[in-house]
Formats: sequence, C-alpha cells, structure tokens
Amino acid sequence: MNILILGSGGREHTFAFKIAQSSHCKKLFVAPGNAGTARIATNIPIAVTDFEAVKELVLREEIEMLIVGPEDPLVLGIVDFFQADKELKHIAVIGPSKRGALLEGSKERAKEFMALHNIPTAAYESFKAESLEAGKKFLTTLKAPYVLKADGLAAGKGVLILDSLEEAQDELENMLTNNKFGEAGNTVVIEEFLDGIELSVFVLTDGKNYKILPTAKDYKRIGEGDTGLNTGGMGAISPVPFADEAFMEKVENRIVKPTIKGLETEEIDYKGFVFIGLIKVGEEPYVIEYNVRMGDPETEVVLPRITSDLVEVFQKVASGQLDEVEVEVTPHAAATLMLVSGGYPEAYEKGKEIEGLEKVQDSTVFHAGTSEKDGKIVTNGGRVLAITSFGEDFQEAIKKSYQNAEKLYFDKMYYRKDIGFDL
Ligand code: ATP
Repeated sequence: MNILILGSGGREHTFAFKIAQSSHCKKLFVAPGNAGTARIATNIPIAVTDFEAVKELVLREEIEMLIVGPEDPLVLGIVDFFQADKELKHIAVIGPSKRGALLEGSKERAKEFMALHNIPTAAYESFKAESLEAGKKFLTTLKAPYVLKADGLAAGKGVLILDSLEEAQDELENMLTNNKFGEAGNTVVIEEFLDGIELSVFVLTDGKNYKILPTAKDYKRIGEGDTGLNTGGMGAISPVPFADEAFMEKVENRIVKPTIKGLETEEIDYKGFVFIGLIKVGEEPYVIEYNVRMGDPETEVVLPRITSDLVEVFQKVASGQLDEVEVEVTPHAAATLMLVSGGYPEAYEKGKEIEGLEKVQDSTVFHAGTSEKDGKIVTNGGRVLAITSFGEDFQEAIKKSYQNAEKLYFDKMYYRKDIGFDL
C-alpha cells in the first residue's frame, strides 16, 4: 500500500526508515520531510496543518495509511477531518481524534482525566483570570518549588518551576492577565512539585487493546549535567535501566490500564500512540504529562528496537484488532545523540554544509533539521542529526554514537558529551 507520514523531524525520518522496510509498503511519502526522508521516500512540500492539501495528496497518490508525527494536526482534528470525509474515511490514520488529542492540547483536561480515572499524578488546581486571587492564595498552601503550567500548547515552554512564592504569584499574574503565553495561558494549572527521576513510557492503542512499547529517557537541557535552557531533546536511551519489572508492573496496572479504560469509557476514538511522561518518586510512578504522539528524540531509540513489521501492527491498530498481533522488541539497548546548531535553542544559523555522513559506521543517522541545496546536505534547523546506535547496554550504544559524531562536521556543530552518564 501507499503510505504517507506527516512531519519533518528525526521522528518522521525514523518512522520512514522502519516503514520502508515493510513488505507491505509500496510507495512512501513524507510531507514535508527533510533531506534524510528524501533518500528513502518522496517528500511533498505541504504544511502538516493544511488538511485540504493533505487530502489532495492522499487522493492523488492513492494513500491508504496516514501516520501523523507531530501534535499540531492532531490537536486541530486531522483524524476527525478524515473520518468526516466520504473519500477519506476508509484510510487507516494513526493518531487520536481531536477529543483524544486534548490530553496533550489541554493540561487542565489531562489533569481532570487523571483525577476521574484515579491515575496517580501531582495534586493540582486550575485557575483563570477571574480566579487570580484564589490562585495566589492556593500557592501559599503549597511548598516551594512552585509548578505553574499554561493549559494549552506552548511548544514545551509553558511550564515554569519557581523557587519563591512572590515570583510564583507574579508569574501567575503574568500568565493570567498579561498574556505571557498568549491564549495557551488563559488557564493555568498549579501543581504540587514531585521530586524524582523522569522517564517516558510509550503505548500503542486501538482505543481498547494496547501494547507497551520500549521505555526511553531523554535529555532535555542544552548543557551537560542537565543544565541550561530546555530543548526539544539532546539525546535518549532505551530501555531505561531503573524501570525494572516491578516498577513497570505498577506503571501498567496503575497508569496504562486505567488510561486505556478511561478512553474507552469516555468513548474517545483513539488509534495511535500515548506517550506518558512519568516521574519515579521513590519506587512509585506518577504521570507528569500525556502526549498524543511519539516523542523526538525518543522515537529514534524506541522504533529501531521494534523488530515487528510496523505496517502490520498499524493495520491492526486501525482495524481495532491490536490484540491479534505481537510487537516484538530486541533485547539490545539503543542510544541516540543529537547534533545541534551552535546557539540552539536560541538564535542559530542555517544552511551549513554537513560533511562526513558517508563515514558513519555501525550507527544510523536520522535527519532532523536538514535540507538539500545544490546537491549538498545542509543544516535547516536547531536539531540537525540524531545518531542512533545499538549495544549490549546503553553505554556501549552511546559510545558508538560518540565515535561517529567525531566523523561528522558542520560549522558550529554542538552536542552533549554526557548522554546516559547519570545512570
Ligand atoms: P514538553 O516540553 O515535554 O512538551 P510540557 O511543556 O508539555 O513539556 P510538562 O511535561 O508537563 O510540560 O512539564 C515540563 C517539565 O517540567 C517536565 O518534563 C518536568 O521536568 C517538569 N515538571 C512538570 N511538572 C512537574 C511536577 N509536578 N513536579 C516536578 N517537575 C515537574
């Protein structure tokens, strides 16, 4: 069948890499894609939120399966758009409906869902401009640090963690009345601070059956020792060594099962990934957030570890028969290292030629922010390349990525030298 992947990052290159290996995949398209996806698929330069253009492409190229990479089209309702259209209805779309996507699109909604279905998470209350004074008062009942979250999508920047009460009260006011995060901050969730270690658990579901995919841990900050500004992610490892069997049993029973059951009882159409951001406090798992798609760079370590035919698995997701298929995972560990443009996550330059790609051995390079110019591969974003490697353990895997990083070059290239070193 012909398959379309929406998106243009390392996540989408990894999807394309796996899907291209399936005997069920005839023609593969990525929209808009990058220089990496162009090597294994046909890139189509359309925006992921331009549903009419997606429709036109799907009909023109007789696409039968659509995989939605990023959250924006999901939150805007691409799945509902396909279901409501006579010509598109039959297409297998991997992604949740708009109601499902609200678990990521609204933090208040996610917290309400967790409360309703008894899923462990930080205690919270949410506030709007008219309840600013009540919000300030609520903060006085909490202990520092204070966690303030803009309700809507804010590109990973809408969460503030503050040490002083005054600062927290001021920022609450900035968000609610001074539009600090625009509309996303019209509602603010204030929650209890949880002290622990973070990890991500990925679940694939057809809305009633589920498969738990490999766990991963990503490294969010730009600087070594997890310091400096937040980024989209500087590297990741899988599996997570501290997510042992006993812990994962708790995750499955207390979080995954009630989440899927909650979707079912609320009659939410959900055929796709649930990315559960967790924090391990002592030995107990708590949910920090839901995302309704795969993570980036976690995809670059999770998908390569899956040995089953992804297209077969996705077909079962779409037909609501996920219980009929096994998702096999290699016991080998994987690690990925992000090479980024100097200056990222603040201002950086684009268009720098990337050299050394042909010298990489025993690792796979997934392209994130790249494009092609005059026959050359050049940088086209903050996060540029992800080098994924396998090993007996993640230490061996990340070592290979570091060896290959030394063979790659672009002007002002930067990467963290300590991925996995905290474990
Ligand atoms: P992302 O960048 O992953 O999209 P986001 O903006 O959706 O993030 P969250 O994941 O909810 O927001 O929070 C961002 C980060 O803030 C978390 O990864 C975690 O490190 C920290 N954090 C959030 N909530 C809490 C909490 N209750 N206690 C401690 N730390 C927290």
